[in-house]
Amino acid sequence: MIPIRCSVEGVVVVWTYYIDAPRPAIVDAGFAASPDTDIRDALAKAGVRVEDLRYVINTHGHWDHAGGDQPLQRHGAKVAVHRDDAALLRDRAAGVPDMARLFHLSADDMRAFLFEHVAGDIQPDRELVEGDVIDLGGDVRLSIVHVPGHSPGSVAIWWEQERLAFVGDAVQGSGNRILRCPIFGEPNGYRASIRKLGSLGIETLCGAHRFRWGPDGAEGPLAMGGAAVAAALRISAETEALLRDAASRSSDPAVVARDETIAGALGWDGSAVPRPLEFTLHGYAAH
Ligand SMILES: [Zn+2]
Repeated sequence: MIPIRCSVEGVVVVWTYYIDAPRPAIVDAGFAASPDTDIRDALAKAGVRVEDLRYVINTHGHWDHAGGDQPLQRHGAKVAVHRDDAALLRDRAAGVPDMARLFHLSADDMRAFLFEHVAGDIQPDRELVEGDVIDLGGDVRLSIVHVPGHSPGSVAIWWEQERLAFVGDAVQGSGNRILRCPIFGEPNGYRASIRKLGSLGIETLCGAHRFRWGPDGAEGPLAMGGAAVAAALRISAETEALLRDAASRSSDPAVVARDETIAGALGWDGSAVPRPLEFTLHGYAAH
């Protein structure tokens, strides 16, 4: 297993993972340009060609994870995504309403952004559901665990033999260093999904971004093992509970950003409203 760092415009970073198997696979595809830049370069160091990939398994359908699906499919990989996020792959514009709220952009600007960073609309080769198994040959078998919350079709890809789970953005601690707030459109799902992941017996947890696992500004490791897995799940659940509590008092991001019960825990200093807060509070109001 090889983590591959994909970046765009030097700021947004997402990690994808190459899985070495008789039918080689990659977890997530990065941005439109990633397959023929970051991914190609990283695989070449391991003596693998992008054209050798048989599967791209998306942890979810967001632009920074599925933007490179089309070139990978053209290079010969089958694209798999949970059926509840498949619409985002079939039509890039389907992501505009959610992402415009998240990025605080107009619909037109968001559409232009998505069309720049997502290579194209594609038909997924396989729509995943809970319990599906992707057999990569040898004894590499990956199970799909549906963990909605961040997006409706978020999944954990569970490599039970290695007790390793690729979780994408399903476990976000207290958010990343810049945004300082986890992103979930469906909070009840997020909370249940964290509990579900806690029951699997995960020994290694591989995320797609480096999230914070506490109120200080530092980003934690990308992949965690041992006691750090339980700690990451606990902090993610505690952060969700704090947001839920704050959301029960106000749905106004400017008010919640100054809420003393949560500001300290998430490292907010009151000078600015964390950008994802409106999106996440909308999730509480809508569900
Ligand atoms: Zn995402």
